[in-house]
Amino acid sequence: MSFSAAKWRGHFPLLAAHHDLHYLDNAATGQLCAAALDAITSHELTHRANVLRGTYRLAEQADAAYENARRQVAAYLNAADADEVVFTSGTTAAINLVAHAFGDALKPGDEVALSLAEHHSNFVPWQMLRARRGVALRFLPLMPDGRLDLARLDEIVTPRCRLVAVTHASNVTGAATDLAPIVAAARAVGARVLADGAQAVQHGPVNVEALGVDFYAFSGHKAFGPNGVGVLWGKGAALAALPPFLGGGGMIGRVTPGETTWAPPPRRFEAGTPPIAQAVGLGAALDWLRAQPWAELHAHTARLAQRLVGALAALPGLTFIGPRDMRQRLPIVSFNLDGLHPHDVCQVLDRHGVAVRGGHHCAQPLMEFFGVQGAVRASFAPYNEEGDVDALLAGLQDAMRTLA
Ligand code: PMP
Repeated sequence: MSFSAAKWRGHFPLLAAHHDLHYLDNAATGQLCAAALDAITSHELTHRANVLRGTYRLAEQADAAYENARRQVAAYLNAADADEVVFTSGTTAAINLVAHAFGDALKPGDEVALSLAEHHSNFVPWQMLRARRGVALRFLPLMPDGRLDLARLDEIVTPRCRLVAVTHASNVTGAATDLAPIVAAARAVGARVLADGAQAVQHGPVNVEALGVDFYAFSGHKAFGPNGVGVLWGKGAALAALPPFLGGGGMIGRVTPGETTWAPPPRRFEAGTPPIAQAVGLGAALDWLRAQPWAELHAHTARLAQRLVGALAALPGLTFIGPRDMRQRLPIVSFNLDGLHPHDVCQVLDRHGVAVRGGHHCAQPLMEFFGVQGAVRASFAPYNEEGDVDALLAGLQDAMRTLA
């Protein structure tokens, strides 16, 4: 299969309907692919019923569609077993699930290691756990360009460490985390590892087995799938060792007034009616993504991001955040124009049809590290083209002229 950005764009109904839109906010949410939209529509029109409850034919068809989605997610992640895939409402819910189910067994004196580059959803749940259980949080330091500084790994991942929770890729700098040394350090002290894959899954299939982590979290909406669904993948043994987080229908073995037993994973962690059509849509999106020519897609988005980084370096008064070498990062480019508020810059860009995000990007500790309040962020997907970079650069020139 040979890749063309224009052809790829054709798989995204919103973009096909918005010819003038330069959508560069893919790190916030990716556009919904036709494969997902078609699967959702077809499911709602032909197989809509609650799952894991009914015995009539329609309900069995809904069950089959839901479990098929689980297998599609497992295939994208190279998971050993589809039952290692827990559907949640998103990355945030997946991380909170681990913070409760795993975290609530921790005791004062235990440690959880994070990095300073985390999104708030992999930061705040651990601070809340610290307040509940008295655990200590340790923070992996950063190198000046925002990459995790793994030189001091042994100092941070101590024998008291029970879990290391780090991002697979930063939503601000795009910096990709080298998980292998982190997994090795965690294994050496018997700690588990959770990777926040919210920014990684949309850039190609993930191999959780090869990564060696215990938990992997991501959201459907960032992977060209629907909102309202996400995944917590957990190694079979790691999931089996956890108690449930939420109680309710579907997650039980047997309920009596005296006591309740739990269903095995993944149902143990899917209390209540799950996001059924959303899971079906996510499965279809990932199935479609899995078949894409990723080497070409990566080369294309890296070329666009590199061109933007190069052009930004030539602008006066511009501060760039993150690694400059595209081999160390994903196509997410954050920067500031001297004296200009990111929101004001975004407003001018909007007049040029350019959709980018400005602000702290739910990563205030990282912003503090860089000594800024916020940044403008352009994030690329394979449907982006040279014209999107041209429009962004023209908009920035305009912002510098009109706002200065
Ligand atoms: N982690 C990272 C790295 C993210 O970029 C995001 C979304 N911006 C999240 C977690 C949270 O994802 P969600 O809001 O879909 O739960």
